[in-house]
Amino acid sequence: MKQYKQFLIDMDGVLWTGNTPLPGMQDFFAYLRATDTPFVLVTNNASKTLDQYMEKFAMMGVKVHPHEVLSAAMGVGLYLERHAAPNSKVYMIGEDGLRESLNEAGLILADSNVDYVTVGYTQRLTWEMMAQATLHINAGATFIGSNPDVSFPEERGLVPGNGATLAAIAAATGVEPTIIGKPEPILYQQAVERLPFDMSHTLAIGDRIETDILGAVNANIASLLVMTGVTSEAKAKKSTIKPTHTLPGLPELLDLLS
Ligand SMILES: [Mg+2]
Repeated sequence: MKQYKQFLIDMDGVLWTGNTPLPGMQDFFAYLRATDTPFVLVTNNASKTLDQYMEKFAMMGVKVHPHEVLSAAMGVGLYLERHAAPNSKVYMIGEDGLRESLNEAGLILADSNVDYVTVGYTQRLTWEMMAQATLHINAGATFIGSNPDVSFPEERGLVPGNGATLAAIAAATGVEPTIIGKPEPILYQQAVERLPFDMSHTLAIGDRIETDILGAVNANIASLLVMTGVTSEAKAKKSTIKPTHTLPGLPELLDLLS
């Protein structure tokens, strides 16, 4: 573990479950600060804004800085900042997180003659939104998805995630989206660009094998799978995706680091 000089850290299932911190969470951040270890918190969740994440950490007694948080929504903004022509118009499906990031990147949110269609998770999804997205993409707009998670767990069971919306629009248009979030490498690459060391000194920590760990494989970064989230030991054993390291959780990581 000591070969790694910086971390990319997933949040849900690694640091907390819902609003409850997982064991070792506060100690882990105390270690990162005491050793001056650089990190970026990288999440596929595209609905929350930066301030909402800052508040959540503050509520758990952990101080993080704005440049230490990167969501798939922020990733869409960063990507378009780099690739879109100035004043490009975007039709957006999504929540405040994505809206804020597109505004900050200088893009114009619009309903007609758009250059891009960006799709993030929203519970307010309607058929009309899907129809508009389909019409814009058929007219030549570039199709971008924040994250491809097809489902996520709720109290009542698995419900459709953003990947399900992307799949529906892809089916209607015959066009596959460019995806920014994990397991595509773009979000991890953007995160490493914020950090002082390169990929070879970076460890990506996550709980979801098909996004966090596959994303690390795709970005050529070492990975640590923790068992505090959505991946069971049986599933990890059966999977063809192999993390570089596997540990029960943060307390065991801290033992190895210190
Ligand atoms: Mg997770």
